[in-house]
Amino acid sequence: MDDAATGEGSTAVARHAPSILHVDMDSFFASVEVLDDPRLAGKPVIVGGSGARGVVASCTYEARAFGVHSAMPSVRARQLCPHAVFVDGHASRYAEVSAQLHAVLLSFTPLVEPIGLDEAFLDVSGSVRLLGAPVGIARAIRTRVAAELSLDCSVGVGRSKMIAKLASRAAKPTAGPRGKRPGPGVVEAADELRFLHPMPVERLWGVGPATAKRLRDLGVRTVGDVAALPEQVLVRALGKSLGTHLAALSHGQDLDPVVPARPAKSVGHEETFAEDVFDRGALARHALRMAESVAVHLRAGGVAARTVAVKVKLSDFSQLTRAHTMEIGIDTGTAIAAIATALLDGMELPLGVRLLGVSASGLHAAGSGRQLRFELDAAPSTAREGRAFDAARRQEHWEEVMSAVDAIRRRFGTSAVGTASMVGPGGIVVPGRREAPWGPPAEGGESSGRT
Ligand SMILES: [Mg+2]
Repeated sequence: MDDAATGEGSTAVARHAPSILHVDMDSFFASVEVLDDPRLAGKPVIVGGSGARGVVASCTYEARAFGVHSAMPSVRARQLCPHAVFVDGHASRYAEVSAQLHAVLLSFTPLVEPIGLDEAFLDVSGSVRLLGAPVGIARAIRTRVAAELSLDCSVGVGRSKMIAKLASRAAKPTAGPRGKRPGPGVVEAADELRFLHPMPVERLWGVGPATAKRLRDLGVRTVGDVAALPEQVLVRALGKSLGTHLAALSHGQDLDPVVPARPAKSVGHEETFAEDVFDRGALARHALRMAESVAVHLRAGGVAARTVAVKVKLSDFSQLTRAHTMEIGIDTGTAIAAIATALLDGMELPLGVRLLGVSASGLHAAGSGRQLRFELDAAPSTAREGRAFDAARRQEHWEEVMSAVDAIRRRFGTSAVGTASMVGPGGIVVPGRREAPWGPPAEGGESSGRT
């Protein structure tokens, strides 16, 4: 990395214009809650567990003005801000908004690396000819996010991911006595060493409290202090790997590339219940809820799943797993729940259920295979025919799912006494009589497997 000719900077720093962006939604969960319930606007809102062991997941700037911040125990937050409004949070809604965010980002470059639901790194070096300078792209992203999501984000621009992330932090609004004070929105760290060196050393990636203390013992306070130390001193104090890493970062040398999201292999949701569940109807309702959450994540990733699996842990900790694979890919909660409930119905459950999980795998890009989208169908623009077509397609898709359900019942049987509930296109249905509620049974569309 030493390039004598360029003096203190690295070759990477000298050569490339800043074209890595870090996009970070402002107080994401709390802002979504305010968006969905305008009565919360202007109030200190805290998303998180309100119980004794709860933790703040996100809070508005009105709450931050009282010193509340995320990861703080909720008990402490309530002391600081007794009139705060606590909200439980809506995970599937956040995933939905996150999907909208990523769709916006992907329209600027395919090189988007999502970090959690509300952050992403973008490499826009390939988009500059078409879209102009990175800092302009950053402003355009903020405008699009505001227009399409009605939410604010902050964007940092730098030559590396670390610098871009520090810059987005510098672009953030701040909390004042009367709530949110807008920040610059976009910060470009063009002169990155001047930007980086005054910062406290804790801002460097890899510096936790223990390392910070060891650095303080060396007289190091700022990133600039680290950069001024000979690398051997850092290596002696912190070990080879961390020492060389921090030396490089302090000179702005971070070559970590933006890695576009790799498609997940599976998407799952599982929960340990507060109390064991004995009732199959209750179990089916939990399965539906989890299936909805899995479906939201599938759609957020633009994928459909061919395999649905359920996992059950009984009160004696014994574990059962069942899976079914179809030829079609599905991405709706009701379809996933239909398969999951059929699998559950085939399980002997002599004890209470302690944990239930629903997962989807065998993922492929949505639209690349046959798949179900009846929940997502755009409303037909005008005609009755549109609705009739939708209804017909919906029926056809649903029959395919039901043929899979029939295949599962043939294979595993039904242990449930008088099957407590079934899942239909509109949600959970508890049939009064068994009257073949799902239309003609089944052929094709199935190939089953067990895990
Ligand atoms: Mg954020």
